[in-house]
Amino acid sequence: MARESKPKCPCGSGKPYEDCCGPLLAGAPAPDARALMRSRYTAFVKEDKDYLLRTWHESTRPKELDFEPLHWRSLKIEAFMPLSETTARVK
Ligand SMILES: [Zn+2]
Repeated sequence: MARESKPKCPCGSGKPYEDCCGPLLAGAPAPDARALMRSRYTAFVKEDKDYLLRTWHESTRPKELDFEPLHWRSLKIEAFMPLSETTARVK
């Protein structure tokens, strides 16, 4: 009998939160840019300001985060293009 008791991750991966973005929001490093992107979306859904600010590049990071109005209603990753070991383009 299959059971689906774990809550799904808000990022839409279909995986349980604790096996997806959960560890990243808890402080684990993102394995790649796509995972980082997903985790940032999840942080946005959960209104985890600290995580969003922590993973924001200094040059573009706002001093304060305002969750109203909500700009992100859903996440759909259309393309994922690794550029190097540490950078990737996500569209
Ligand atoms: Zn996730």
